Amino acid sequence: MTIRLDGRPVAETLDRSTRDAVAAVGAGAAPPALVSLHRGVDSPFRFYLRRQAKAAGALGIAFRDEALDPTAGPEELVAALRALDRDPSVHGVLVEHPLPAPFDFLRAVDELRPEKDVDGVSPRSLGRLVGQRPVHVPAVARAALSIARHYRLPLDGEPVAVVGRSATVGLPLAVLLASAPPGGNAAVSVLHSRSGDLADRLRAARTIFSCVGRPGLLDRSNVPEGAHVVDVGLSSVPDPDRPGSQKAVGDANAPALDGWAGSLTPIPGGVGPVTVAELMAATVRAWRMLVRGEAAA
Ligand code: NAP
Repeated sequence: MTIRLDGRPVAETLDRSTRDAVAAVGAGAAPPALVSLHRGVDSPFRFYLRRQAKAAGALGIAFRDEALDPTAGPEELVAALRALDRDPSVHGVLVEHPLPAPFDFLRAVDELRPEKDVDGVSPRSLGRLVGQRPVHVPAVARAALSIARHYRLPLDGEPVAVVGRSATVGLPLAVLLASAPPGGNAAVSVLHSRSGDLADRLRAARTIFSCVGRPGLLDRSNVPEGAHVVDVGLSSVPDPDRPGSQKAVGDANAPALDGWAGSLTPIPGGVGPVTVAELMAATVRAWRMLVRGEAAA
């Protein structure tokens, strides 16, 4: 039987401590505040914005989504981030991405001081992660590790594969998994489009983290029997049950892996809700660092 790695109990546990931390801010003090910057009302990120707004509202975090002018270019994005970085009433800033050319996401987000970069995706934040002095770790990487820890998937000293090597998802997750505790302490292989036959490379893996964005990439042909799969990939495909609508799917062919994989995160309800919960928790940590002067944990 393939165990369903439900993300919701993991998110709920995290939300409970975030709610307590927000309550401890005290009456009269401004609550932790998060701003999500995106490119206008037609942004494809409306779904994520709604989810962030709802989560923040439920936890007592002030949330604002800020749309750049639709004609704004890279300079305006940099100017907006500089202004948010200077604004003492804002503690966390997210930039919805990927951004099309000529925007340079990593260059722009490096305008944020690491404390405000609550998604931990700027080159400065990523450098701190590799240097084992993280301020914030990318929320999706932290979420994937939290799920693996919650369900006690094999990590410590075990062969683990991360499929995908982007600067903001695959590589930071691989660094986190390879790091000493509270990292994963795992023996990590990082795979990508040039790393050769996937089945061959995954043969020894006991836990697989897939961060690609290619529906159906993982199935019985390449996942070893009994291996655990944390599906970070997220793609939109036409929904056969609702003509004209799209639905979210991961990298794993879930029906094919059912009864074959040891366990698998579902979509929806897997890594996604935990990622949002991690972002909210990071906003409270940012507030503590910026307002209370606490050191990065
Ligand atoms: P990305 O920049 O497009 O990176 C995709 C990676 O997959 C690249 O490293 C690429 O290799 C690799 N790849 C492509 N085809 C492959 C194949 N056939 N075999 C092995 N590796 C292959 O995407 P990203 O920004 O890292 O995001 C990855 C996925 O995570 C996306 O689906 C995204 O939507 C999802 N995501 C989910 C959450 C969440 O909360 N669940 C949050 C953030 C992102 P090369 O480097 O060689 O091109």
